[in-house]
Amino acid sequence: MHTEAEARELDAADPGHRHLFHVPPADGGRYPEVAYLAGNSLGLQPRATRDELLADLDAWRRLGVEGHLEAERPWLPYHELLTAPAARLVGALPAETVVMNSLTVNLHLLMVSFYRPAGRRTRIVIEDSAFPSDSYAVRSQARFHGLDPDATVVRLRPRAGEDTLRSSDVLDLLAAEGDTIALVLLGGVNYLTGELMDIPAITAAGRAAGAVVGWDLAHAAGNVPLALHDWDVDFAAWCSYKYLNSGPGALAGVFVHERHLGDPALPRFEGWWSTEAATRFEMTPVSRPPATVEAWQISNPPIFAMGPVRTSLELFDSVGMPALRERSLRLTGYLERLLDEVTADRPLTVVTPRDPARRGCQLSVRIGVSARSEPGLRAPQSRTEGGWAGSANELTKRLRHEHGVIADAREPDIVRFAPVPLYSTYHDCWRVADALAATVEVTP
Ligand SMILES: *Cc1c(COP(=O)(O)O)cnc(C)c1O
Repeated sequence: MHTEAEARELDAADPGHRHLFHVPPADGGRYPEVAYLAGNSLGLQPRATRDELLADLDAWRRLGVEGHLEAERPWLPYHELLTAPAARLVGALPAETVVMNSLTVNLHLLMVSFYRPAGRRTRIVIEDSAFPSDSYAVRSQARFHGLDPDATVVRLRPRAGEDTLRSSDVLDLLAAEGDTIALVLLGGVNYLTGELMDIPAITAAGRAAGAVVGWDLAHAAGNVPLALHDWDVDFAAWCSYKYLNSGPGALAGVFVHERHLGDPALPRFEGWWSTEAATRFEMTPVSRPPATVEAWQISNPPIFAMGPVRTSLELFDSVGMPALRERSLRLTGYLERLLDEVTADRPLTVVTPRDPARRGCQLSVRIGVSARSEPGLRAPQSRTEGGWAGSANELTKRLRHEHGVIADAREPDIVRFAPVPLYSTYHDCWRVADALAATVEVTP
């Protein structure tokens, strides 16, 4: 039996960086702060963010247009401050990395360059449990090229009775049908199941089959160590409001591998930020794109949105992904042991892979006991048989209002818990298990 005292001891020995964040007050339960397990959805606010943002705002008040050059952090080259730390975070060269726009917008801009169906090679491979935005993006890209989205988009499902995709099944598809596939665009860590895909193996197989391989790293950036350059990934994109704690709708990141930079044959959508900085203000009618990923930029960036990303990336730089991953393995392993105890006699099942090398920090729990016979994460048979007859949404509402535990529901039957190594505690994990035990009745 794991006790609250044990959780407190573990926290004393392995404290993390919670003091650098604002943790919201609880509106239920017996603790003053929430147990925040929803950092995979929206990260908490770093304490440093507000002052940095206000400093940028003050520069505009004091300097007006002169702030472009004279602000403490001049606006014209502001995005360059984010490039090196973002590159370190995802294992890229600075020339391969830029922070701009939002995630789905970036996926579209990258597909303009990297989804170029031709002849037999037209199909796009995604996972059936892809985030809806990615599904809509690839389907609309197919239509944009005059193709039928139903015939163009291949949706990979877990095997019957399994909850997560096998990376080996992706490799088998690429080996068998690779000459029909133009683009592989998968989530590095699946948003629903928390599964970490074998990014280097799938990238290598996709490229060997002649396809382009892009990764959506929304749930991977800041969660697991990445080496995009060495893994030869063609392109990648990620958002900054989940594990990167840069605020709702924060600016997103883009990676394009060095081998594609400066390639004049690649189509791209351009604007005045696509041209080289040195001659941008010569206002010439034809652009001169640099041989860096900055050629994919279009507009001048929103400075007040860049400050929070910069502040957050500094934090990741100072702590370092290797140390964060180590703490993440300890915290998630602890939560897993607690959940195993609670779920053993309740209608709840952990669906995230049990091998720590195949997941980040998130553990997804399905309401229902038996392994499903139909592939995909739908229609649990046992939802009303055991001790929980409600929806995932109803469960997270009770966890919040009765226990101050913030988790995230994905209807109909998945609840996601993400102990984030920067600010989550062992005590937060203990509160999750305690709240689940109090809310979901033991199966008779
Ligand atoms: C969070 C998330 C998104 C969100 O897209 P935005 O363009 O940032 O609104 C897209 N894809 C995945 C896989 C996500 O996890």
